[in-house]
Amino acid sequence: MRILVTGGTGYVGSTAVDILLSQGYEISILDDCSMGHADSVPADVTYVEGSLLNSNDVAEALKGCEAVIHFAGKSLVGESVEKPDLYHSVNVDGSRILLDQMYIAGITKLVFSSSAATYGEPKEVPIKESAETVPTNPYGATKLAIDQMITEESKARGLSAASLRYFNVAGALKSSRGWLAERHNPETHLIPNVLRSTKENPVKIFGTDWPTADGTCIRDYVHVVDLIDAHIKALQSLTPGNHEIYNLGSGDGYSVRQVVAAATKAIGYEIPTVDAPRRAGDPAVLIADISKAQHKLGWVPTLDIEAMVADTLASFN
Ligand code: UDP
Repeated sequence: MRILVTGGTGYVGSTAVDILLSQGYEISILDDCSMGHADSVPADVTYVEGSLLNSNDVAEALKGCEAVIHFAGKSLVGESVEKPDLYHSVNVDGSRILLDQMYIAGITKLVFSSSAATYGEPKEVPIKESAETVPTNPYGATKLAIDQMITEESKARGLSAASLRYFNVAGALKSSRGWLAERHNPETHLIPNVLRSTKENPVKIFGTDWPTADGTCIRDYVHVVDLIDAHIKALQSLTPGNHEIYNLGSGDGYSVRQVVAAATKAIGYEIPTVDAPRRAGDPAVLIADISKAQHKLGWVPTLDIEAMVADTLASFN
């Protein structure tokens, strides 16, 4: 089966490409390389360097495919607060074009990279898929709008789809071509920033007055290799005209200070930090209830926070 991986040159997308190839899938990639790296594209894939906002590029990339795993999109909470128009255009309009081109091409299988940011500040943790969706930032609003579009598409046009709501993705895969590291510029994610912290440029702790035990935000981290395993299981479980939503995390929460402690253990010296104001758009606590993915997909996350930190560290070398 040939799968179109949108955003296949990015951190999560390139990891998916590698694992899918190792399992015998054929791969096409559509990516504008605004966030990803063309040097991560393996030789044996069809690569269309193009935009989701260009119907011709999307149609070209879909040729010969039976399914789509849709990772492409803007994904930074802070940037989305500053540039909501950019997020609505790339994420929502781009996904609309993808759905239309899939329909034209007769492709009915979709796995979408959604986000825990769709829930906003949760009333209850751990968060179930049935929780209220009130995003606190434009990034989450765009992911929710796409999820809703996919639900409508499955009802109206028989699309078989799954939206996977990621909590915090971390870690890295060592492929035959070396580590597929998280290489964002600028890097905004906690674990890479903690591991790169120096005395001259210490990692900032965004908010120390949150209503949590140590005053820092709590997140649920999931290893990118476990995350991709869930995508493959979701793809294999699709049923016609049905749109399922699954939360993907570990089911456990770690505060920013607990992540710094895990990283300190891995790196072997005290990591310098500096307290900073809260970051716009951040909810205090996000922890996934992953029982739906466990029961319906038979998915079990296998790699813990220590493995995520160790693999991220190894991927930098
Ligand atoms: N964070 C931090 N310093 C950083 C980066 C992130 O304190 O340099 C905090 C951030 O406010 C959030 C948590 O770490 O509470 C995880 O943030 P990240 O950007 O990694 O992922 P997000 O939760 O935004 O998807």
